[in-house]
Amino acid sequence: MQKLKGKTAVVTGSSKGIGAEIALQFAAAGAAVIVNYSSSAEGADRVVQTIVEQGGRAVAVGADVSDAEQRRNLFLQAEAILGHVDILVNNAGVFRYFPLEEITETSLQWMFGLNVFGLLLTTRDAIALMPPSGGSVINISSLASTSSPMHGTVYSATKAAVDSITRSLAKELGPRKIRVNAIRPGAIETEGTVSGGLISGERLRTFLETTPLGRIGWPTDIAPAATFLASDEASWISGETLLIAGGRGI
Ligand code: NAP
Repeated sequence: MQKLKGKTAVVTGSSKGIGAEIALQFAAAGAAVIVNYSSSAEGADRVVQTIVEQGGRAVAVGADVSDAEQRRNLFLQAEAILGHVDILVNNAGVFRYFPLEEITETSLQWMFGLNVFGLLLTTRDAIALMPPSGGSVINISSLASTSSPMHGTVYSATKAAVDSITRSLAKELGPRKIRVNAIRPGAIETEGTVSGGLISGERLRTFLETTPLGRIGWPTDIAPAATFLASDEASWISGETLLIAGGRGI
């Protein structure tokens, strides 16, 4: 059975990594998907092409979701293409680790601007398009929201904010039948973590040693949980933050 048959979804930052896999699995589950990207039009087009080849429905829409004007355009297009939005996945996020003395206003604004302000304002704009029957918002947080790794001060703080936003909005939006949940991935092999050198060398060894299931994660470890949380099977689940990290961080 297709769990998301007849539903519409916007997945931010789905030109690659975790977001791309969520978009692919949502479409396979029957949803019509807006594949949002910021700079990688080619990556987004590849995701859309794969979906269409498999008989699904998807359209790529470019928008930096930390920018008010571009976000406005994203939802104008979402309304024109999908009519309404049943599911929003706030996946777009940036991560970088640095010591305290290297933290600048620019780095703070960059990470908080997307991971927190962008996520919150994207949610505000998306729920305006959710029908009276309700909807589902899924925020991609991180294990780092509670593990608070050294040099991850800014990133961890943004994801701790995401967990808090998830719980507050679950309370506020519940009466409108909108569920709000978060997924907290552990270390996942993606374009972002590979190019950032975050899952190699000493760091990778530490991940493997401290992960009970003894391996790094993949986007395919995350997307099925997003599909479940987006589906009617999760209709009594809201305000949850689900750790998916191979047993790490428990
Ligand atoms: P990734 O491989 O770097 O991909 C990031 C995606 O976000 C890309 O599609 C990128 O689009 C998009 N994006 C970046 N800035 C954007 C913006 N301003 N507006 C719209 N889209 C934007 O990242 P990932 O590793 O898959 O991570 C995805 C999410 O999972 C993030 O929120 C991250 O914090 C979280 N997470 C990741 C891990 C991990 O180990 N990978 C662990 C825990 C949590 P363009 O390429 O078009 O710019």
